[in-house]
Amino acid sequence: MGNKGMIVILSAPSGCGKDTVFKEIAKRRDDVCESVSATTRAPREGEINGINYYFISKSEFERKIENNEFLEYANYADCYYGTPAAPALANVEAGKICFLIIERKGAQKVMKRCPDAVSIFLMPPDMKTLEQRLKKRNTESDDAILNRMKIAREEIKSSGEFDYIVVNNELEKAVDEINEILTSELKKRNNSL
Ligand code: 5GP
Repeated sequence: MGNKGMIVILSAPSGCGKDTVFKEIAKRRDDVCESVSATTRAPREGEINGINYYFISKSEFERKIENNEFLEYANYADCYYGTPAAPALANVEAGKICFLIIERKGAQKVMKRCPDAVSIFLMPPDMKTLEQRLKKRNTESDDAILNRMKIAREEIKSSGEFDYIVVNNELEKAVDEINEILTSELKKRNNSL
């Protein structure tokens, strides 16, 4: 029988480097995949529909909510973000470790709905570094950065709800730590060496 997959919730304040961390993990393991979310936010330069996100209208998003198509969804900085349920569940069924890279409210919903999911909170080394990373990214206005910093403080306060906290100070170390978590959680589930 093939191994069981699992859902991994990776949550972190905006600008903490969760996408970079995931990319590094995906380079090292072939059993991981990433759920592509739907959002009503406008695409940033270089973002591709269907790869980074499914960029959809508010009315289409609300129709999908009505149809129960999301595993979870949340409102973040005045936009909707949601995880399409069917592909995530199909990936787990196929034995994959399916990463949901999502904010706190959505993470809480998945923890309730999928108690088997592993939840990891990626912590910035400190608030100053987080602010510098957000500014360096050059994708948000000053007001939007202030708003994201405010949300970040709230997210950090509730990081104790997660199964694991990993500090993203050095990329390589954070990736090593998450990799070990994945290996050990898979062993627990599949009871094998
Ligand atoms: P951004 O606008 O920077 O791409 O994302 C803003 C926040 O929304 C980030 O914390 C990101 O992880 C989160 N996010 C992305 N997709 C989803 C999703 O499907 N559901 C939820 N709840 N949050 C998401």
